[in-house]
Amino acid sequence: MDSIYFSEEHNIFRKSVRDFVKKEIRPYAEEWEEAEIYPREIFKRMGDLGFLGVSYPEEYGGGGGDYFTTIVFAEEISKCGTLGFAMSVLVQTDIATPAINEYGTREQKLKYLKPVFAGDKIIALGITEPNHGSDVSSIETTAVKDGNNYIVKGSKIFITNGTQADLITLGVRTGPGEGERGLSLIIFETTTPGFSVGRKLKKMGMRSSDTAELFFDDCVVPAENLLGEEGQGFYAIMAGFENERLAGAAMSYSGAEVALDLSLKYARQRIQFGRPIGQFQVISHMLSEMATDIEAARQLTYHAAWLKSKGKPCRKEVHMAKVFATEIANQVANKAVQIFGGYGYMQEYEVERIYRDVRLSNIGAGTSQIMKNIIAKLLGL
Ligand SMILES: Cc1cc2nc3c(=O)[nH]c(=O)nc-3n(C[C@H](O)[C@H](O)[C@H](O)COP(=O)(O)OP(=O)(O)OC[C@H]3O[C@@H](n4cnc5c(N)ncnc54)[C@H](O)[C@@H]3O)c2cc1C
Repeated sequence: MDSIYFSEEHNIFRKSVRDFVKKEIRPYAEEWEEAEIYPREIFKRMGDLGFLGVSYPEEYGGGGGDYFTTIVFAEEISKCGTLGFAMSVLVQTDIATPAINEYGTREQKLKYLKPVFAGDKIIALGITEPNHGSDVSSIETTAVKDGNNYIVKGSKIFITNGTQADLITLGVRTGPGEGERGLSLIIFETTTPGFSVGRKLKKMGMRSSDTAELFFDDCVVPAENLLGEEGQGFYAIMAGFENERLAGAAMSYSGAEVALDLSLKYARQRIQFGRPIGQFQVISHMLSEMATDIEAARQLTYHAAWLKSKGKPCRKEVHMAKVFATEIANQVANKAVQIFGGYGYMQEYEVERIYRDVRLSNIGAGTSQIMKNIIAKLLGL
């Protein structure tokens, strides 16, 4: 890609991910959607190829690349034909792992990040609870100190990778202190007695990714699995959200770009009233708007990623990128279905799936309303 943000190395890496996606993911997209899960061996394959954790330190099994290597990866994996799988992979690389990388001890990183980036273990992020979604600071799952252990009790809902995860970066209330002050993050191993997976939830879209309810019934977790200090959990979660939201932005405009490419092709091929529908101005203008919105989302995301990569303040730009990219992704997918007419409503056409998949983008990882609340606060309101 010709852009000030990417070097020749990035472009070579992009090609290798693109080739892999074409050969080893796209052909199975349908099957995984149908099964409502992906096979865990594919994570191992990606780990072997060095695709998991591309921007993390090599010492912990990462690729040692810069932050734009992550952006390249998120963009290309999101073109795999099933955004659910892309989401599951991004949970592994950019959603459940940043807090371990930033707050974990060396021992924790060696023990937990290495197998995750090798694809030997699957990881999830467990924050959302039945009664607390946007309001993260109110979560109720408790971790009560008992000697050298914590006793974990509670439940989580909507957890991506939930049925297959070996590890969970888990948000818990350790107290003392109410609200955000009492929150901590622990690394939870799902072999712990008392842990169980409830229902695998049926979803509108993102079907190749498993989403589950999780239960913790007096699970004994070694105190050494605490990430950072007690009471730091909220800030660790929020720091992790920056990666999650940038990855979410990249996934959204990339998914939308697939819908645009399919729509452009269709608009050239579909003949009505004796001419390709792309020659009707209403259709060509729709396509122009789709392309412009995608480009704007991409450039805003790159700018936020550039600020982040330079260690500059980027909270406002990250949240702007997330809200803008996810909102336009929905609009683009909607227009794509319209351009395809009745065929766009049929499951055998990919735009139908993209339309359902991107519907999650402005709900998951923080809703658009919450993104706007954060931006407003950063604007001094
Ligand atoms: C498929 C899927 C996968 C997910 N994966 C994960 C995961 O891996 N890990 C995880 O922890 N969570 C996960 N989530 C949960 C997701 O992050 C939450 O659904 C999301 O944060 C919203 O929370 P909620 O669903 O409880 O909605 P609520 O917080 O109840 O919000 C309901 C509505 O009220 C609005 N609202 C709430 N508060 C305010 C406010 N202060 N101002 C304005 N409007 C407000 C919201 O914007 C929304 O429109 C997943 C969800 C889905 C659907």
